Amino acid sequence: MRLGALEAGGTKMVCAIGNENGEILERVSIPTETPDITMPKLISYFADKEIEALGIGCFGPIDLNRDSNTYGYITTTPKLAWKNYNIVKMFQDALNVPVGFDTDVNGSALGEATWGITKGLENSMYITIGTGIGTGIITNGKLLHGMLHPEGGHLLLSRHPNDSFEGTCPYHKTCLEGLASGPAIEARWGEKGTELAERREVWELEAYYIAQALVDYIMVLSPQRIVIGGGVTHQEHLMPLIREQVKRQLAGYIDTKELLNMDQYVVLPSLNDNQGIMGALKLGLNEYQLENKG
Ligand SMILES: [Zn+2]
Repeated sequence: MRLGALEAGGTKMVCAIGNENGEILERVSIPTETPDITMPKLISYFADKEIEALGIGCFGPIDLNRDSNTYGYITTTPKLAWKNYNIVKMFQDALNVPVGFDTDVNGSALGEATWGITKGLENSMYITIGTGIGTGIITNGKLLHGMLHPEGGHLLLSRHPNDSFEGTCPYHKTCLEGLASGPAIEARWGEKGTELAERREVWELEAYYIAQALVDYIMVLSPQRIVIGGGVTHQEHLMPLIREQVKRQLAGYIDTKELLNMDQYVVLPSLNDNQGIMGALKLGLNEYQLENKG
């Protein structure tokens, strides 16, 4: 079965052709400009590939409520040319195949849960920490949407007693994204994270904030495993610091076998950075099965 996959990002669109086993057969990357420029390129890429369904993992916010008049739209994005844009219908009309649709980070969560390190778990989450911070959540075997979709990057945090940085989020200042995203690191320390690799205090503070968020996710969602991806995790010493802080901040309140082995509980992605595009394949496959059942 040939499936199309699109990872729609703010700076680039990754398009791929693959199959129901998560194998990627070919891919291209197209810069994200305005819909007028970019959409015809995307459609022409997929048009002659004989795909049976397309899956899209998309930057947000997006409307995932199938009962809504704006289902399939990119909604209030700061990328103004794409604001209130019906991306799903554009592909449905042009390609005439089922189109699966979800957030980019839910796509990554699904990729890992289908073929990667959270396979077989009913409850897991995927957090990406880079320019922005996003969370994809699988709960009772399904991607969590709720009234919109999770926006766990904007979890409100308590500032570390020794940190006077005001935070970069234009909405909340000191949410997780405002305190721990790549741009927040650069604004606080005056240099990019890649230049700060040797500064232990940078990563101890980073781990403190990420762990605070993880503890809150653990309390509310009870995930069986947490995957952390994104540019910030390329700092190799960060993951052990996060695990240590999660343990410390949980303070022994929750006692499960999963938490006994923190190396296996808070983990890096396992699909060679293909988790997003593979998740999009699975979104396409799921939509195909939904529309062809019975
Ligand atoms: Zn925020």
